[in-house]
Amino acid sequence: MDTGLGIESAKLVLQEARRLAGDRKLYLTITHFHPEHGFGAQVFKGQATIIYNRAQRDELVKKGPIFRTLFSDKLGVAQAMKDVEFVMPDIVYDKEASVDLGGRIVKLNYYEPAHTLGDQVISVPEQGVVILGDLLETESFPIMPWFPELRDTDVDPLNWREIFRTVAATNPKVVIPGHGRIGTIADIEASAHHMDVARQEVAQRCAAGHDLQRIQKELTPILETQHPDWDLKDWIGMEVQAYYERLCRK
Ligand SMILES: [Zn+2]
Repeated sequence: MDTGLGIESAKLVLQEARRLAGDRKLYLTITHFHPEHGFGAQVFKGQATIIYNRAQRDELVKKGPIFRTLFSDKLGVAQAMKDVEFVMPDIVYDKEASVDLGGRIVKLNYYEPAHTLGDQVISVPEQGVVILGDLLETESFPIMPWFPELRDTDVDPLNWREIFRTVAATNPKVVIPGHGRIGTIADIEASAHHMDVARQEVAQRCAAGHDLQRIQKELTPILETQHPDWDLKDWIGMEVQAYYERLCRK
């Protein structure tokens, strides 16, 4: 699950997967199309059966080249992006799929757009493990990409919150985030609570007639102060905007 950013990272992941699997069959899936999660999948082509949900596959086709350029030109990882090629999955599913790893069932679920159009929730129900990708960053503010200049304004914070409800109802014991330390259900609850506060604050302020710039300026320090130990503070302004665009634009 996930190759990391670029070919060298993916080679290490494949090596480790081979070490663990021995001569058993390998599968690869990706939590969502973002470069630091899946832009190494080409290393697995022919070595593993690659499975994506349809929305993720389509989003990779549509946005992959733009994000490759973004990461290469703006984020200083041109070397890792240099030889990235996009490969298509061997299996595509719509809503849910199960993979039998030999007496151990892994479930793949698609619950509509949230962090991206194609987020996947991967779980090992028997062991209470859930893998959330960037739906959760432990001890961090959520990443809600709002990039009109990249034609990417697909984040859906309201559906995202519903996915948290669905996942929390399964009472997971081990929660694996997209970034940050491995967590528990308490990390899902903390992030969900933060999102509820952000949503409510934005809704109240736009009901009072405040514009986006004013809401961002006033609300960002308030949200930051509520979690002084959380990382990814730079994303708060965009989170506020994501709620504003969903809740306040007529
Ligand atoms: Zn992401």
